Amino acid sequence: MTARILDGKALADRVRDEISPRAAALKAQGVEPCLAVILVGGNPASAVYVRNKVAACEKAGIRSLKFDFPAEVAPDEVLARIAALNADPSVHGILVQLPLPPQFDEQAVLEAIALEKDVDGFHAENVGLLSQGRECFIPCTPHGVMKMFESEGVPLQGAEAVVIGRSNIVGKPMAMLLTNAGATVTVCHSKTRDLAFHTRRADIVVAAVGKPRFVTGDMIKPGAVVIDVGINRIESGPEAGKLCGDVDFDSVSQVASLVTPVPGGVGPMTITMLLENTLESAERVARAKGQR
Ligand code: NDP
Repeated sequence: MTARILDGKALADRVRDEISPRAAALKAQGVEPCLAVILVGGNPASAVYVRNKVAACEKAGIRSLKFDFPAEVAPDEVLARIAALNADPSVHGILVQLPLPPQFDEQAVLEAIALEKDVDGFHAENVGLLSQGRECFIPCTPHGVMKMFESEGVPLQGAEAVVIGRSNIVGKPMAMLLTNAGATVTVCHSKTRDLAFHTRRADIVVAAVGKPRFVTGDMIKPGAVVIDVGINRIESGPEAGKLCGDVDFDSVSQVASLVTPVPGGVGPMTITMLLENTLESAERVARAKGQR
C-alpha cells in the first residue's frame, strides 16, 4: 500500500481562510483579537517558533504583542508581566514559549495565566476540563491533529489508537481527546516494554517522541493512519540540518493508508489552532459585551 499524504499546510491554509473574516468581524464590533507572547532567553528554536506565531497572527488580522526577556531574568519579573496582561482587557490570549530557563517553575508560570486567556491550554484547570470532556482551550498540537482526523473523516469511535509519548503538551492531551472521541487508547513511553507489539495492532498511531525516524514501517499495521508530531533536526551526516519527524516516512508510507509529512504536516496546524483559540477567546469577550 502507498499512503496518501495528509497535507497539513493546505488544511491549515483552509482553516486560516475562515479565521481572517472572523477576526475582521470582531474588529468591526470593537474587539480586536490580541495574543501576547512571552519569550525568555535566546533558545534559537523557541525564537523561530515565536516568530512564526507572530507572523501568523499578523497574516490573520490578529494583533500580537511580543515580550522578550533575557535568560537570567528573575521569575517575578515575568510573573508581573503575566499579571499585567491578565488585567488588560485588550489582550485575549497569553502564551509563554517553553522551555523556560532552570530558575523557573514552569507549571507555576503556566498557572499564573488567567484561565480565560490560556490559549495554549496548559493551565491545570484547563487540563482537568479536557479530561472531563468539557469546554476548554485544547492544547494546540493535539487540537490540530483532531482537526486533521476530522477533515479526512478518519473514524475514531472504536478505533485502536496508540499515542507514543506522554508529555503534558502533546501525548497526554492527545490521548484524552482520542478517548473522549471514543477510541480505545494506549499510551506508550520510554518504559513501554514492547512498543511494536502495541503499534502493530493500532488503526491510528500518533508519534510524539522527539527521536528522528523512530517509527518504522515494520511497526505499522497495513492501512493504519500515522500522524507524525515530531520535529527533529538531523545533526550529522549528509542530511545534517534537515528537518525530519519521529516517523520514518519512506518505510511507513509503504504500509499506512494516510501519513503526515514533516515539515508540512502537524506543525502548520499547531499554529493555526493557536490562532483559532485566540479568536475563540476574543469572541467570548465580544459575546459577553453584547449581553451587557
Ligand atoms: P517530550 O520530550 O516532552 O516527550 C517525549 C515522549 O516520548 C516522552 O513521554 C518519552 O517517554 C517518550 N519516549 C522517549 N523515548 C521513547 C522510546 N524509546 N519509546 C517510546 N517512547 C519514548 O516531547 P514533546 O511531547 O514535547 O514533543 C515530542 C516531539 O514533538 C518533539 O520532536 C517535538 O519537537 C515535537 N513537537 C512538535 C510540535 C508541532 O507543532 N508539530 C509541537 C510540540 C512538540 P517518558 O515520558 O517515559 O520519558
